[in-house]
Amino acid sequence: MTRPRVLALAEIKPPEMAARLDADYHVIHDLTEAADAEVVLTAGNVGISAQQMAQLPALRLIAVNGVGVDAVDLAEAQRRGIAVTTTPDVLSLAVAETALALALAAGRRIAEGDRFVRAGKWALGGKLPLGLSVLERRAGILGYGRIGRRLADLLRGMGMEVLYTARSERADSPDTFRPDALMLAQDCDLLFVTAAGGSETRGLVDAKVLAALGQGGIVVNVARGPVVETAALVAALNAGTIAGAGLDVFDDEPHVPQALRDAPNCVLTPHIGSATAEARRAMAQLVLDNIAAYFAGQPLLTPYEV
Ligand code: NAP
Repeated sequence: MTRPRVLALAEIKPPEMAARLDADYHVIHDLTEAADAEVVLTAGNVGISAQQMAQLPALRLIAVNGVGVDAVDLAEAQRRGIAVTTTPDVLSLAVAETALALALAAGRRIAEGDRFVRAGKWALGGKLPLGLSVLERRAGILGYGRIGRRLADLLRGMGMEVLYTARSERADSPDTFRPDALMLAQDCDLLFVTAAGGSETRGLVDAKVLAALGQGGIVVNVARGPVVETAALVAALNAGTIAGAGLDVFDDEPHVPQALRDAPNCVLTPHIGSATAEARRAMAQLVLDNIAAYFAGQPLLTPYEV
């Protein structure tokens, strides 16, 4: 029996899940050989452009291994009636954990301390500057979606006061609403950026928001690079007008500007928000289930409503 053809613009992990994809489908990796493919597998940070879709006349489903759809040309997908699926919820804890780790690493100078020990500076009598008590600070969540709310649960569970902003107040939320990013930053010390990427959220965290966060402030971005203005962030870190930053996402991945790499007390990770074996396995399972549902003519499990 011939296996249905699936174009893979990104991979799924761990290897046993990729092996299941290979077992069930004829997986093509070259766009130019996929004119008859009805399904594309892509990742949140890879997406698919209108030009790529133009080379895929048979395309009916874009299965995103992730939740960010800012790199998918949704308008073109909608115009052509192509369905889009994502992997919501199953990665929220992993990304929230990454955000917490970045906040702790920046506040308690963990990465800096690691470099300090490895460089032999401790043995030479050097001293690290004092850190900040992360859990005694007020947390602000910018983007109160699945990941933002999961993170809020963790932070509240550790005794922190949590504020949030979203486009509208949530009646069912135990956390305190602020109407915009500026008001949120004025009233918190740890600013967690967990909003969706795209044109609506570009530059939401700008020089004014960083100034409002203040000298004891830490910014953590696990959303998308452009949500935080890089030049403003570098300036604030260098001037010491905020205390630190933890960044998992960047404007032009995998390239990270030298100014950020040189910035003081800035912890950098290579977009590993959801990169746990548990989350990646669950994400891959959802991707496989959505693709299987498509080929079986069944309703998709987690369609992204455009
Ligand atoms: P989600 O449930 O769709 O939540 C996205 C949130 O963004 C929504 O609550 C939405 O707020 C908010 N938002 C959109 N526009 C906004 C605006 N103008 N101002 C304030 N908030 C705005 O998605 P999720 O699962 O939580 O994921 C959030 C994002 O995390 C993804 O889009 C992706 O970019 C990123 N992500 C990163 C990693 C990583 O590895 N670092 C992994 C997964 C996801 P409203 O409530 O106002 O609609």
